[in-house]
Amino acid sequence: MEGQPVPLRQRTTLRTGGVPTLYVEASTESQLIEVVADHDRAAGLLRSGDTQPADSTSDWQAVPSASESSEPGLLVLGGGSNLVVSDAPFDGTVITDSRSDLLVRPHDREGSVLIEATAGVTWDDLVSHTVTQGWSGLEALSGIPGTVGAAPIQNIGAYGREVGDNLVSIRAYDRLTGEVVSLPRRDLALGYRDSVLKRSLHDERPGGGRTWKNTGRWVVLSVLLELDEDGLSAPVRYGELARTIGVEVGERAPGSEVRSAVLELRRSKGMVLDPSDHDTWSAGSFFTNPILSQRYADEVLPFKAPRFPVEDAGRDPLEGKVKTSAAWLISQTGFEKGFGLTPGAQARLSSKHVLAITNRGAATSDDVVALARAVRDGVEEHFGIRLEPEPVQVGLTI
Ligand SMILES: Cc1cc2nc3c(=O)[nH]c(=O)nc-3n(C[C@H](O)[C@H](O)[C@H](O)COP(=O)(O)OP(=O)(O)OC[C@H]3O[C@@H](n4cnc5c(N)ncnc54)[C@H](O)[C@@H]3O)c2cc1C
Repeated sequence: MEGQPVPLRQRTTLRTGGVPTLYVEASTESQLIEVVADHDRAAGLLRSGDTQPADSTSDWQAVPSASESSEPGLLVLGGGSNLVVSDAPFDGTVITDSRSDLLVRPHDREGSVLIEATAGVTWDDLVSHTVTQGWSGLEALSGIPGTVGAAPIQNIGAYGREVGDNLVSIRAYDRLTGEVVSLPRRDLALGYRDSVLKRSLHDERPGGGRTWKNTGRWVVLSVLLELDEDGLSAPVRYGELARTIGVEVGERAPGSEVRSAVLELRRSKGMVLDPSDHDTWSAGSFFTNPILSQRYADEVLPFKAPRFPVEDAGRDPLEGKVKTSAAWLISQTGFEKGFGLTPGAQARLSSKHVLAITNRGAATSDDVVALARAVRDGVEEHFGIRLEPEPVQVGLTI
């Protein structure tokens, strides 16, 4: 199961990243857990035989935060499509889950189907399969790179849908307690590009008293989704998509038509991976859309700035909050499509839209960081709004 430790730039879509000390491909759940547990034990994060319940706070305060200590790191790697990785050697273990299994679970609710996919399944393979089967719910999430295991981490979303709309629960290995747990959707605190899983990277509360850095407290083992069986898509919520399909917003359409339209729209923006197209050598959207208090938005946002309601995981609008468009802020600040810091710069904004930072072939992680900082700082100076990077930062800080 030990694989060749090639540079991580060969395993990330932004194509940066140095060589890890150890690279492991796990082909069973027990191998995956064993490698993670061995790492965590050696790093002092999990003691031998430790099986304390998740809410216990008796011992953990004495353990140093992973982000503050200098122990070798752990990175559970999916498709490498939401990462900005330093080109320096990665002092630690990189592990991928090579399982690719799908199960249809017994279910007594008529008109819907329950499917469980292991973490290593390629996300878009799953979407394609469900659309072919006439199972609907995921079609608007067509073409998103990466794996099933990473999908709930930032509650992937596009064209008015999020994985949380169909997620029932996840099975995960809890690195804090050393136990395999089932976490229902309501425990995941899913939000816009956010979840308790993602927050545990940098927030001690979900982290159980420490932060976990590259990979969060929970290693996702499998994901359980509930889909409709009638072949029609979920209601189309996104205007541009509705127009492309030729339906009204809120109407349903055959799942295969929605998938084709989404793939077409995504390709036009460089958002479908293509090795021959540098506009797709990215981590997708580099910054999340800022969420502001209504009062702050009224103060700093020009009248013509886009404003979207902020919904909670139950899709109820959150009062007093407003979301604006990071892409709009970036272009209004003066950064154009294709912008680079110097004429021949290898890290540049996508030539198709300003929200993706792309590698034109030879960009280093330093080049990416410099461009990201310039964009973030430029927007902050212009609008007083600080953009937050969406990808997970490994071995570097933007
Ligand atoms: C061209 C392009 C378009 C994109 N479009 C979208 C989009 O429309 N919407 C969207 O939401 N995202 C989008 N993304 C971002 C990205 O595809 C998603 O965030 C995706 O879910 C990342 O999956 P991955 O397997 O590549 O994760 P990786 O990049 O490998 O890892 C990301 C994080 O998840 C953790 N992780 C991975 N697997 C597991 C696991 N099994 N258990 C625990 N932690 C794990 C990693 O440790 C890391 O912290 C896009 C990216 C690209 C390059």
